[in-house]
Amino acid sequence: MLTSISIDSSGFANKAEVILSPNFDNRPNKSNISLIVIHNISLPPGIYGGDNIIDLFTNKLNPDNHEYFKSISNLKVSSHFLIRRSGSLIQFVSCLDRAWHAGESSWNQENNCNDFSIGIELEGSDYDAFEPEQYRCLQELIQSIVNHYPIQGIAGHSDIAPSRKTDPGPFFEWDKIKSLFQDLIYKN
Ligand SMILES: [Zn+2]
Repeated sequence: MLTSISIDSSGFANKAEVILSPNFDNRPNKSNISLIVIHNISLPPGIYGGDNIIDLFTNKLNPDNHEYFKSISNLKVSSHFLIRRSGSLIQFVSCLDRAWHAGESSWNQENNCNDFSIGIELEGSDYDAFEPEQYRCLQELIQSIVNHYPIQGIAGHSDIAPSRKTDPGPFFEWDKIKSLFQDLIYKN
């Protein structure tokens, strides 16, 4: 059932729309891809649709378009994947490269989670339920990643940077993931 996405040898998902971000660099150890990090994002916060998330990840966000953008438009950030409200999948960085999504963080006594993780952003917020189509895409995507890399665990951004981050937030239904991937570690 969960096999319709696959990752190719260059680290890209066959079903993703690819919009390359310049915000990445080399992983210190390409063979250590052991963690999936789940996030939520919406720009402006709580507003869905449009291209603002894409613009942020490609350094094109116009600070004049919204007051909130002035504080973030200079950030150099990215994620490997974004799952939109419709369930459509966008990929910004090859899984083999290091995307810049986690910031200062630690998991399983290792710091700098960007080094060894794959970041998945769900278009959403801490205040809204996610869409069923997003869970379906996320389940397929995780299955494809687990098939391809030595993933040991799945964490929320709030698990690996608890003093700074709250995403994916209280509406994220962990059971929809845990029930399918029972062998993975979910605690930090
Ligand atoms: Zn996050």
